Amino acid sequence: MPQIIDGKAISAAIKEELKEKVEELKARDVHICLAVIQVGNDPASAVYVGNKKKACAYIGIESLAYELPEETTQEELLRLIGELNANQKVNGILVQLPLPKHIDENDVIRAIDPKKDVDGFHPQSVGALCIGQEGFVSCTPAGIIQLLKRSGIEIAGKECVVIGRSNIVGKPMALLLLRENGTVTVTHSRTKDLKEVTKRADILIVAIGKPKMITKEYVKEGAVVIDVGIHRNENNKLCGDVDYDDVAPICSAITPVPGGVGPMTIAMLMHNCVEAGNVR
Ligand code: NAD
Repeated sequence: MPQIIDGKAISAAIKEELKEKVEELKARDVHICLAVIQVGNDPASAVYVGNKKKACAYIGIESLAYELPEETTQEELLRLIGELNANQKVNGILVQLPLPKHIDENDVIRAIDPKKDVDGFHPQSVGALCIGQEGFVSCTPAGIIQLLKRSGIEIAGKECVVIGRSNIVGKPMALLLLRENGTVTVTHSRTKDLKEVTKRADILIVAIGKPKMITKEYVKEGAVVIDVGIHRNENNKLCGDVDYDDVAPICSAITPVPGGVGPMTIAMLMHNCVEAGNVR
């Protein structure tokens, strides 16, 4: 049977470490504060924002919630970001995506001071990652690196295949694996003969957004499989992009859904907030 990579336990350990660090910082009179902005009342976003606020409270980070109405203009949102950029007390700024259609997400992300860009989405953060300089890293791929390292899985020298090239998962994932000295291939919807490429992977990262698409035909025996996807199946149960029951028997390690990658995203957001406060 494969090693089940336990994202719940690993994220809990990271949160405990951060809690201690926040206490140490408080003793030096450094207080960390995250501003969370939500525009409109998308129910999924409300759940994500709620979970982020809860994690802040647990770790000892102050969170400021800005719940703005759907009809908020781009100018109003940019003005608020400008104020938060200038506010010395605020270390991190997070704008919950997606935004209403009349607001340009790229303009909003670009308006955040890169020193407060705890989501790691600002072009400066992405550029820094690309050339190996300091900057915030997108939380989901950063969490996957932690899952691998803390499960004792070596990345250096391994064939790593990433399925998906989104800006928040696939691309930063590939850059992080490269930084860890993996040999990286990125595949996507236009890849010819996907199976032939994914079968080369020692470490396969799946971020496609298609429920249970990856079956054992895509996976080399003994591979490590990381499933980023989150979906509800026909019975309203959570499942990933990987057909877990089919793939698990042939791999050496695998993340379950739920309880794999999911819990790591918030843990790494908290990590970025602590870093944001620590550098000041
Ligand atoms: P996205 O839709 O932005 O990107 C999907 C990528 O998959 C694209 O680059 C596309 O080229 C590729 N793709 C689509 N169909 C393909 C196919 N048939 N073959 C090969 N590649 C194909 O999605 P995303 O934001 O990267 O998210 C991917 C999944 O991960 C979603 O299920 C999302 O809900 C989930 N997700 C989870 C977390 C988490 O915290 N666990 C965070 C972000 C995203």
